[in-house]
Amino acid sequence: MTISLESQDIISSSTSFSQKSDGNPLDDPSIVTFRIASTLFPAIPLKELSAHSKVIRGAIAAPSASELIVYTLTSANSEGEFMIKTEEEVSAGDFEVLLKYLDGCEGINSQIALLTLQSLLRISHPTRLDIPKLHSDARQTFESIFPPHMLAIKRDSSTLYHALLVAEEFTFRNVRKALLYAIITSNNIDTAAGTPSDPAWSAHHVKIFAHLLAKFIDKFAPVLYTVANAGHMACTDAFADAWMPLVIEPSYQDDGVTDPLRSLERIKGIDWGKHGICDECVKDKTDEWNGEMEVIWEMLDQWIEEAEIKVLNDRK
Ligand SMILES: [Zn+2]
Repeated sequence: MTISLESQDIISSSTSFSQKSDGNPLDDPSIVTFRIASTLFPAIPLKELSAHSKVIRGAIAAPSASELIVYTLTSANSEGEFMIKTEEEVSAGDFEVLLKYLDGCEGINSQIALLTLQSLLRISHPTRLDIPKLHSDARQTFESIFPPHMLAIKRDSSTLYHALLVAEEFTFRNVRKALLYAIITSNNIDTAAGTPSDPAWSAHHVKIFAHLLAKFIDKFAPVLYTVANAGHMACTDAFADAWMPLVIEPSYQDDGVTDPLRSLERIKGIDWGKHGICDECVKDKTDEWNGEMEVIWEMLDQWIEEAEIKVLNDRK
């Protein structure tokens, strides 16, 4: 491995890292240039970067003074450059986002754009620059915007599908599950036609959504359309009177059969005492509905697996 001497007139395409006032890069061996494909990133403080990145720490050699060293992340073709090998390709765009973040220009918080967050997750991944702290911070932020819990994701967000792609790219299984539920229950999915409600959706996802939606309906329809039984005869009778107007009819309005978790939340929220059900039976039924929600949430993992296998087999 040889060290390349680059002249100072390299045309820089990025000035993300502000040059320290006391340092000409040529005088400071820890200030180097990175090249990713055709993009040059001059004046990169190597110490700082290698303190964060395990991959860079492992790859760098101690530079001699007065030499501007070029590290390349993508190609070994350029003679005289140090190659830093990564398992997966690093893009110049992601590297630029990383520099902004390390420079303190870009904070990680819930206001961060999803694309930026995705860049940070990607470049900090063990298969690229391997920056564990950044990766876990970025993941935490992602999960604070898209919480991996039952009904915790706001369905009005236009970024749900993009977030699903991110969750799949980094195998965030629980967020993925919560996102799948949010997407399926916030869109009109035509199970028969298999046409996407959103043109951005891939054919693969449309099939997965349709499969899961069918599962929701299979599982929940018997609960929704069967009057609840209670421990007392009088309470069972009261349920029989109230079930149609309070449970079934509203479900026609909001397509409740396709959204079991939210429907069960709604059913739990009804003031059953006012409709003649005793406290004991209300408590018993509430426990039962909570149990039903837990079961559906648990089963969703299995349904997702089945959906993937089915879609894969259909392709063969
Ligand atoms: Zn009762």
